[in-house]
Parts: sequence; structure tokens; C-alpha cells
Amino acid sequence: RQDSEAAPSPFHVQLEDGASLEADFIVGADGKWSSVRQSVDSIQNGTIVDCPAWGVHMTCPFVPEGWEETDGTFIIKDEAFYILGSPLPEDTGFSFSMVCSEEKTAARYPWLLPCDRSEDYSDSWLGSSEEAAAAADGEGALAGRLSRLLEETMPAFHAAVRGEETTRSARINRRASWLKMMEGDSYADVSGRVALIGDSAHAMTASIGEGCNCALESAAELVARVEALMRERGEGFGKCSHQTLRDGFSDYGRSRPKEVQPVQLRSAIVNGWKETS
Ligand SMILES: Cc1cc2nc3c(=O)[nH]c(=O)nc-3n(C[C@H](O)[C@H](O)[C@H](O)COP(=O)(O)OP(=O)(O)OC[C@H]3O[C@@H](n4cnc5c(N)ncnc54)[C@H](O)[C@@H]3O)c2cc1C
Repeated sequence: RQDSEAAPSPFHVQLEDGASLEADFIVGADGKWSSVRQSVDSIQNGTIVDCPAWGVHMTCPFVPEGWEETDGTFIIKDEAFYILGSPLPEDTGFSFSMVCSEEKTAARYPWLLPCDRSEDYSDSWLGSSEEAAAAADGEGALAGRLSRLLEETMPAFHAAVRGEETTRSARINRRASWLKMMEGDSYADVSGRVALIGDSAHAMTASIGEGCNCALESAAELVARVEALMRERGEGFGKCSHQTLRDGFSDYGRSRPKEVQPVQLRSAIVNGWKETS
């Protein structure tokens, strides 16, 4: 550091293992439920918005006969839902996500709806899905019901995954959601000492597979903004001043939302989100 200006008071960071540290700058890369975003008063917190779509996850504990050579994600479609399948590492089986929507799936199979819970689910993206499954199913008989549904709608798939041998692992996830910020919001705080990257700034639904790409781009963009200012100000490698970091964080915070928000919106719309929902 080569600052001549008086150093601002540091942030006190409390870590999950009980340790604490002081930091002059913080980059929040802690995901959709970011503690950094929620702890810094002068940074926009946004709103987590639900979409009318969700997944039912199942694991097939073996490789179905004839599927030995399948090495990529594939899609099996029904009128009311579709299933994404991916092989698990080391030929241990297959992972399936049944992608459901209120409009098509719930209209026919209301027992597949995730249970609505008002509390904060920030513990994990999937939430307590076993609980949701049991609640949605009343009797907790999701495995049997789902197996019968697949037998009726996708008999070949049902036979390949041997019905309940796969559906017994089914979990109804909560609705897909994303982090909505307002136009003009920044991914940096007012002092330019905290910046958010990745899902902590712009969590999006998984529908178009852009979340990780945008997260990596945001990290690169933050660095690029700081580097550009260092070059402009003749600050060599390892000699970045506090002022330059602050200005770089602020530049990034102001400019990056304009690039990512349209992607978030597109992704949410694919998941059935509407401005009024
Ligand atoms: C089902 C699904 C499918 C997806 N498919 C795609 C796809 O095909 N393509 C794509 O580009 N993206 C996809 N995404 C999105 C992608 O996974 C995310 O956008 C990406 O992982 C975001 O990266 P991140 O580093 O910002 O956040 P995360 O990957 O969420 O990482 C945040 C990290 O911070 C840690 N953390 C959180 N809080 C704390 C704390 N208090 N202390 C310490 N550590 C903490 C977490 O443990 C985690 O390791 C998908 C997401 C889902 C859910």
C-alpha cells in the first residue's frame, strides 16, 4: 500500500469458525445468500424473487442398461414437465432433475408443488426438500406417486430407471429464484471498499446456464477496472493505492449491473417470471 491519505477505519469480519479479522477492502463472493451483501449497510441488498418453476431431484443409483456410453446432459420431454439427466462420476449412476412449472405441471399434478414456507431459506439453494416433499405429498408417499406418474407418461424411462429404485430419492426443491436489484443500483458500497461479484451480486435462475459465466466475468471485470486505473495513474505491479482500489470498485459497481441485469431478466423469464409475479 502506498496511501498518503488517512486510512479509513477497517471492517471487522467475523468468520464462521469463530475467528475474526480486520480488512480495508472486501470482495463479497459468497453466493446468493451473501452475508457480505446483507451485513454492509451502504450496499444494495436487492430482493430474492421466486419464479413459478422448480425442480424435483432424483438419483438413479446405477447406470441403466444401454446408457453406458452416455456422457453428457440430455433432456427427456413430456407435455407437463421435462427431465434433465446427467451421468454421475465414475459410472455410479445418473442424476435427474424433473423441471416443473406452475402452469403446466402443477395444473395436472398439484401434489408436485413445493410447500410454501415463509421463513428464510438461506441455508442452502435446495432448502429442506425432504420436508417439502413430505408436506406436498401429505402421506410422504412421493416415491410411489412419482413412479406411477413416470410409468404412465414415460414408460421407457420408467423401466430404464426401475421406477421406485430411483424415485425413492426424489426431493421437491423450492421454486427457482433470483436476486433482483433496481436499475441504478451498484455492486459496490458508497465508500468503494466493498464489491460484490458472482451470485452475491447477481444470482440468477439456472434456466439458461449463465450464472457461473457471469460470475467469472464479474471477477475479471472488477480486476480490469482496478488495473485500468493503476495504468492510468502509473501505479506498478503490487503498488495499487487505496484510492485506486476504491475508484476501481466504484467503477465496477456502477457499470457491471447494466451488463448482467438483462441476462438475469432473460433467465427469469425463461422460468416463467413476469413483472407482476
Ligand atoms: C441447479 C443449478 C444449475 C446451474 N447450472 C449452471 C450452468 O449450467 N451454467 C452456469 O454458468 N451456471 C449455472 N448455475 C449457476 C452457478 O452455479 C452459479 O451462478 C455460480 O456457482 C455462482 O458462483 P459464486 O462463486 O458467485 O457463488 P457460489 O458458487 O454459491 O459460491 C459461494 C461460496 O461462498 C461460500 N460461502 C457462503 N457464505 C459463506 C460464509 N459466511 N463464510 C464462508 N464461505 C461462505 C459458499 O460455501 C460457496 O462455496 C447453476 C446453478 C444451479 C443451482
